Amino acid sequence: MIALYPGSFDPITFGHLDLIERASRLYARVIVAVATDSWKQPLFGVDKRQDQIALATRHLPNVETASFMGLTVRFARQRQAEVLIRGLRAVSDFELELQMAQTNRTLGADLETVFLVTAAEYSFLSSSVVREVARLGGPVSHLVPAHVERDLTEYFSGAKR
Ligand code: ADP
Repeated sequence: MIALYPGSFDPITFGHLDLIERASRLYARVIVAVATDSWKQPLFGVDKRQDQIALATRHLPNVETASFMGLTVRFARQRQAEVLIRGLRAVSDFELELQMAQTNRTLGADLETVFLVTAAEYSFLSSSVVREVARLGGPVSHLVPAHVERDLTEYFSGAKR
């Protein structure tokens, strides 16, 4: 079975990576896909985010990266994915995730959303927390892979100039 894990991944964190590793044990193939037409103004470009994911998952042979525009269900169908992976960190994630999953069901009933519960040590972790700590010059090595930390340092040291 092919699973699609869509998100902004701006940037990928150890929380995302934990989910990807676990999904890769459950499904034959996992496609980690950067959604490109979010209303959010991203810090990193799509190609950069995809590279960051590819490097972080290179130890997982059944994981691949992609990017897509438009409806997630449409992209899932294109890639023959039958499962949509999403993460639940806290009750606060639940409402929006439930709404999205139910909406997606009305758009493509053949696609099942499967929620994986975040590892407790990453339940506080989000890309926006990482961006904020990095922007303020704090350490993020316990939150993101080393290459992502380097990209953040470079971005914010450049932005300050
Ligand atoms: P989106 O903009 O679609 O929410 P994100 O990149 O922030 O994209 O998150 C993608 C998915 O990963 C979401 O389902 C989110 O709940 C999950 N996720 C985000 N952070 C974590 C984390 N720390 N642990 C587990 N899952 C997470």
